[in-house]
Amino acid sequence: METDVLLFNPPSTDGRGYTREGRCTQEAGVWGTQWPPLSLATAAALLRRDGRRVTLRDYPATGHDIRSLENDLRELRPSFAIWSTGSPTILSDLAVARVVRQQAPGCVTAVIGTHVTVRPEEALTEAALDVVIRGEPEGIISGLCRSDASYPDIKGISWRERDGAIRHNPEAPLLAPDEIPAPAWDGLDLGAYRLPLKGRRFLIVAPVRGCPWTCSFCTAPLYYGRRLRRRPVANVIDEMAANVERFGIGEFFIWADTFTADRHYVQELCRAILAWGLRISWTCNSRVDTIDEETLLLMKEAGLWMISFGLESGSDAILAASGKGIAAAQSRSAVILTHRLGIRVAGHFMFGLPGETEETMAETLALALELPLDVAQFYTAAPFPGTALFDEALRRGWVKMGAVPIFSQGRAVMELPGLPSGRVDAFRRHAYRRFYLRPRTAVRMLSLMKK
Ligand code: SF4
Repeated sequence: METDVLLFNPPSTDGRGYTREGRCTQEAGVWGTQWPPLSLATAAALLRRDGRRVTLRDYPATGHDIRSLENDLRELRPSFAIWSTGSPTILSDLAVARVVRQQAPGCVTAVIGTHVTVRPEEALTEAALDVVIRGEPEGIISGLCRSDASYPDIKGISWRERDGAIRHNPEAPLLAPDEIPAPAWDGLDLGAYRLPLKGRRFLIVAPVRGCPWTCSFCTAPLYYGRRLRRRPVANVIDEMAANVERFGIGEFFIWADTFTADRHYVQELCRAILAWGLRISWTCNSRVDTIDEETLLLMKEAGLWMISFGLESGSDAILAASGKGIAAAQSRSAVILTHRLGIRVAGHFMFGLPGETEETMAETLALALELPLDVAQFYTAAPFPGTALFDEALRRGWVKMGAVPIFSQGRAVMELPGLPSGRVDAFRRHAYRRFYLRPRTAVRMLSLMKK
């Protein structure tokens, strides 16, 4: 069978599972699972609308390696191969272009992701790569795959001229909220995506794009921009209902940079879920300064079972320096309120932000241990390209960078004054042990798993 466009999350070279989805590029960890590839599935929906034949693959989620990709390329003979990339795996992600060139000569090769968005020149040093898609990818993919498209006319791409010169076309406009289609999940093996702890099949639903906050470490604005775009509630409801009916999946991760940024929208969506009698269960992410009791209760009634807060640090000085715009006292009140209302809480923390010391790391761990959290995830601060943290780390000489910066939230790379990266890694391991090797946490985790 011939296919026009092959969209894929590339196989990892180390056998591990990787999510490469906008601001979230990470190895499957404690809380981690493979997130269904939202951008690729949404692009697939737009391409189908355009009449293209699309094949969608998530090789790491299904445990398939590079040989499966090679087979697919030989069998499908796509005109376009487009895949997602992430900072932690950027070198092997870019090397995929050579595999495509070898197995499907003549196929246009293109990549998406926040890393390549800010470093397209670097990506295009890979000679077998034709195009870098910068920023929110779906609309640009649709433009690229049009039969009459010529590179100079496609906004949002960087590409190489015949003489080797690299061109950066102007930025593409972001999709209007009512233009964002429901992802075409049907091309994927949906059994591969399981909710952490619960182990049940789930899908992502993304009602909102964009984040107005300016956290120094976050790549979210590079992908979806700063302006909040709310999809029409009716479209989101239709999508959820179709997922239940078509795939028998009623567990969702509401994916947004900050779902609760607009409480009125959240309330409208929850009321619609109730009015339509959708029997679904969902989890979402949030900021501690965007929730209130009335909205949380409505969210719970509409199926919310767990909420994830980015708490980051127990030190107000570090929170302020990182631009997070919250204080530890707000984290305390939000987590306690959510727990009191009978909603599970996940807290996400980060060690090694600027200003970090042994004392502030201890403050962060003390906060994690003090709060009634069901799950905690501890990261190391990663100076991802395109963030203010990246600029600061370079300016102050905290990172030694090769030609290609390879950073992940699973291993510290910044040598902060008085705090070697190895110490941050060691403290992170210590924090996991302290948090999870407590009877209280074990009981909570077990009760979650039983459910
Ligand atoms: S609130 Fe901060 S960390 Fe969260 S998505 Fe927005 S910029 Fe990123």
